[in-house]
Amino acid sequence: MRKNIVAGNWKMNLNRTEGIALVEAVLSKLPVDNKTHVILAPSFVYLHKAAKICSNIPKVVAASQDCSANKKGAFTGEVSASMIASCSARYVVLGHSERRVNFNESNELLKEKVAQAFSSNLKVIFCCGESLKQREDLVHFDWLKSQISESLFHLSSDDFANIVIAYEPIWAIGTGVTASTDQAQEVHAFIRNLLVDKYGNEVAESTSILYGGSCHPKNAIELFSQKDIDGGLIGGASLNADDFVAITQSF
Ligand code: PEP
Repeated sequence: MRKNIVAGNWKMNLNRTEGIALVEAVLSKLPVDNKTHVILAPSFVYLHKAAKICSNIPKVVAASQDCSANKKGAFTGEVSASMIASCSARYVVLGHSERRVNFNESNELLKEKVAQAFSSNLKVIFCCGESLKQREDLVHFDWLKSQISESLFHLSSDDFANIVIAYEPIWAIGTGVTASTDQAQEVHAFIRNLLVDKYGNEVAESTSILYGGSCHPKNAIELFSQKDIDGGLIGGASLNADDFVAITQSF
């Protein structure tokens, strides 16, 4: 059975005091019978504290927004997967388009990051998504297939239990333009079919595929009602506790 997941990607926002206050606000507003798996991805700087606060709350865990492709050593400024795991985080977000575009992260590099994450027992939220030009040129399906297959398809079926895929069309991230429900469902079904072809039904049917891109409380219910949309990766709206919690309850 696929998990319903809502993850908040806080990006480079909120200082430590503000970030911890947001963790506490989210936890205080989640209903006691919350059924959604909630993942908070704050800055590295207070990831440990955030993860500790979440540690006694059922179905809520912390994630980092990235990890190094290297195990350890002379990589000034980098943060390794084992450091992240030692902070009690459970997930790492990899391949966000802001990292692919601004930091030139390639499919090959992301494959190495996935390996590092797995070697430290971190689960991966693997992001993929096309630009507006790619969609207009009708190459978006090929692009998504190469992003997913080149970084993930060396993995075993068992490994895939630790992968969540996030489809985030670049043209919808932080723009206020959301993919239509049909556009999002179409791509999610395409991704799930890629998994069927590569790994079979069991893996495909147990992998959560999240939508990301200007998701907010008003559009989440319709998006999450789609057959192949198992939740969301939320940027801007995750910085507001009421909005974020409302999205987590949109199934
Ligand atoms: C994101 O950055 O992962 C994202 C989906 O951002 P936003 O919700 O702000 O579009």
